[in-house]
Amino acid sequence: MSNSDVFYTNLYIDGAWKDGASGERFDVLNPATEEVIASVASAEIADADAALNAAEAAMGAWNAKKPRERSEILRKAWELMSARLEDFARLITLENGKAGNDARGEAAYAAEFFRWFAEEAVRTDGLLTHAPASGARIMVQHKPAGIAVLVTPWNYPAAMGTRKIAPALAAGCPVIIKPARETPLTMQALMPLLEEAGVPKGMVNVLPTKSSGAIVDHLLHDPRVRVISFTGSTQVGRKLLHGAADQVLKPAMELGGNAPLIVFEDADLDVAVEGAMLAKMRNLGEACTAANRFYIHESVADAFAEKFTAAMAKLKLGNGLDPDVDVGPLVNAETRDKVAHFVRDAVEKGAEVLLGGEAPDGPGFYYPPTVMRNVPDNADCTCDEIFGPVAALQTFSDTEEVIRRANDTEYGLVAYVFTEDMKRGLQVCERLEYGMVGLNRGLVSDPAAPFGGVKQSGLGREGGHEGMLEFMETQYISASW
Ligand code: NAD
Repeated sequence: MSNSDVFYTNLYIDGAWKDGASGERFDVLNPATEEVIASVASAEIADADAALNAAEAAMGAWNAKKPRERSEILRKAWELMSARLEDFARLITLENGKAGNDARGEAAYAAEFFRWFAEEAVRTDGLLTHAPASGARIMVQHKPAGIAVLVTPWNYPAAMGTRKIAPALAAGCPVIIKPARETPLTMQALMPLLEEAGVPKGMVNVLPTKSSGAIVDHLLHDPRVRVISFTGSTQVGRKLLHGAADQVLKPAMELGGNAPLIVFEDADLDVAVEGAMLAKMRNLGEACTAANRFYIHESVADAFAEKFTAAMAKLKLGNGLDPDVDVGPLVNAETRDKVAHFVRDAVEKGAEVLLGGEAPDGPGFYYPPTVMRNVPDNADCTCDEIFGPVAALQTFSDTEEVIRRANDTEYGLVAYVFTEDMKRGLQVCERLEYGMVGLNRGLVSDPAAPFGGVKQSGLGREGGHEGMLEFMETQYISASW
């Protein structure tokens, strides 16, 4: 932290910074040093009500704007954020820990949602057709759904917010966003920028809180709320779906993953290693898209392990603000301890550590890049998200076997496949029960593509053409004239 760092630490309601009704605050830590970097106001029920009133009051005027006007405000937000990527990256590193390159990548990705949805805001397709039997006209249009509650995780403090705010504004919905307790500062820092872009007061409200359960539950039970868009763990997602049921809210759920990464015997191993590094180490493994189970064909397993371990060994662990560092600390002690457990458990069950495997002494929640092989199917890390810089290598011998093992999970967010045989590659992709598949690529996230999972990895899609529809209701008018 330097003296020039400026933090916004209050609640943002109706375009103004507020202390919060209870006056209570909570600390935000720098995961690299364990020092407190800010004390943030904690929202209470009265603050949630104030945000709801502000959102309700703002919605009409925003919807009266022409789509082009809304689009230009979003485009301006992209320009402003793009001009300040370094500031956002620094803030992301300070509160989340991730290394500079990861933070810069996130900031650029986050900004891109404003540009993409500026382009989508002017393309809300409808339909006009004849009813086959009656000859009446079938008219279909999409309308803003209403106030949206957005709940976001700590692993992408900027992008998980903008991936929801941009489509909501494009669709015409005011939002109340509850950022993660570990990382509220990035979302707060975005607010002056949205004001400058021309987003009217009340359209975006930010409620950091240490009482997430109570505040979000209260919001979900206010009749003015129509959408709950959540990114986080499957466990919390299930709770929010229960809460959403009482008012039959429109849910968008981006939940946990357990991504398989499959390397066939004919894969270009350099491409596979490069893809595996991205799929595992982007965001130091703290990503729902992180490769969690590596299935390497037995005939290339040793060669892959050697090249991949060599690439992992080159990564430098340290404070993310140091420009030479590739891998920052994990976000908190709990996450670091969980990662350490996964390694201990796998070793006890027979895995061999090829690299890393020992957390250094603090301060800082560090865990080094780690590679294990011969990880058995009953190791905890094969059923649960590792969420850290640990690669668990396993082998397979035939295609049917690997498809079965890859699909043997309650999750279905993303899978990765490496092969030079595109016919086989596409056949395997289609049989994988995943919302997204990277074929000879270790990165699938793109604002222009529909991001999301199947099974217990979620409901709905963010980005692409689908992202805006999550904040809209379909209306059909049957007309004769
Ligand atoms: P989390 O579920 O613990 O928390 C997510 C958010 O929910 C935070 O803002 C948290 O404060 C809030 N929350 C926690 N308990 C709540 C409750 N009872 N009621 C209302 N809100 C509550 O997840 P996390 O640890 O912050 O993030 C990691 C998880 O997020 C991983 O499982 C990861 O896979 C998932 N994730 C998914 C995606 C995706 O797009 N599918 C993207 C990023 C992260």
